[in-house]
Amino acid sequence: MNIYADNAATTAMSAAAIDAMNLYLRDEFGNPSSLYSAGQRAREALDSARERIAACINADPRCIIFTSGGSESDNQAIISAAELGKRAGKTHIITSPIEHHAVLHTLKKLQKQGFDVTYLPVGTDGIVSAASVAAAIRPDTCLVTVMFANNEIGTVQPVAEIGAVCAERKVLFHTDAVQAVGHLPVDVTAQKISMLSASAHKFHGPKGVGFLYAARGIKLTPLIEGGAQERGLRAGTENVAGICAMAAALEESAASLEENSRKLACLRRKLIKGLSSIPHSALNGDAEKRLPSNVNFCFEGIEGESLLLLLDDKGISASSGSACTSGSLDPSHVLLAIGRPHAVAHGSLRISLGEDATEEQVEYIISSVTEVVAYLRGFSPVWRDLCAGKSEFIL
Ligand SMILES: *Cc1c(COP(=O)(O)O)cnc(C)c1O
Repeated sequence: MNIYADNAATTAMSAAAIDAMNLYLRDEFGNPSSLYSAGQRAREALDSARERIAACINADPRCIIFTSGGSESDNQAIISAAELGKRAGKTHIITSPIEHHAVLHTLKKLQKQGFDVTYLPVGTDGIVSAASVAAAIRPDTCLVTVMFANNEIGTVQPVAEIGAVCAERKVLFHTDAVQAVGHLPVDVTAQKISMLSASAHKFHGPKGVGFLYAARGIKLTPLIEGGAQERGLRAGTENVAGICAMAAALEESAASLEENSRKLACLRRKLIKGLSSIPHSALNGDAEKRLPSNVNFCFEGIEGESLLLLLDDKGISASSGSACTSGSLDPSHVLLAIGRPHAVAHGSLRISLGEDATEEQVEYIISSVTEVVAYLRGFSPVWRDLCAGKSEFIL
């Protein structure tokens, strides 16, 4: 059986997205800045994509700018808020320690420039509370940036509550919604979101394209200088094919969101129940306040990397933590932040199901993981010491 269970890393493009992309690559290849009709048709396609994308998150289309993806959107949102804050004498930023590196590394850079960053506490459930945001806001706070849903453990943050706190205290609220858009109900108006980042390849669109929403009145700082594209906020000839494919992918995802969520949440519960019966294992993050597609476990006494390789032999593509951290020996910053000790954080497994996942596949994943974990423990010196009582079980 071949199962792609790493949809948090990237998703397969939908047929609708591929069709839209092909049209603008092959036939309608005009430059949207050209005045002749082929250029104008490309311009109209961009305008239409902007309107359709805005409708999916209940935004004004004028508030959407197209970018190269989630990382760029995160960078631009945070740098813009920092720039605005600095001009007003406000240099305090609030975030969580479980953010994506596109957020954390941008903040590290700002800290070196004199910004003061507060990292909110995160419970073992992987949730940041709105009350902790409220308590951390100071008169000099210029930005709160808390992700919508976590890319490793899938926990969904109380975004509407955080948005309400920020609106009341008149502080900008940015959310990295890369894992949420197309998968969870997102409404920038109702949820009082000032800025939002999204990426097409996480909802069955192409890689290298995304968008940034910034509410009216927020002056964005361009990261790329040049032509007047995207109202001067993001220079460079627009990725017309990618943007049109993104709009097609998002419309489709948004239309089947509820149905998919219900189905996936059932499969997720089954998967959590099955994997929980492996001895000395633990689910990471709240069991219900998480993406319908996400399951993340720690297994004591094994290395996540070996687990992945053996699962790959069984046809299962999964991940340990995030695609960005694999290849490095550091354990996941997210697992450490929710209180998993180093020894346990190394033995993690993330399964992120696709909308086409089946019960049969979930059963195969459960039996394969159970078998591989037992096999690896069979020759793990760490496991031997645990069983001999030379060290203590954590899970
Ligand atoms: C994938 C991801 C990103 C990065 O998006 P790219 O389009 O790959 O740059 C940022 N944040 C989160 C939460 C992600 O899952």
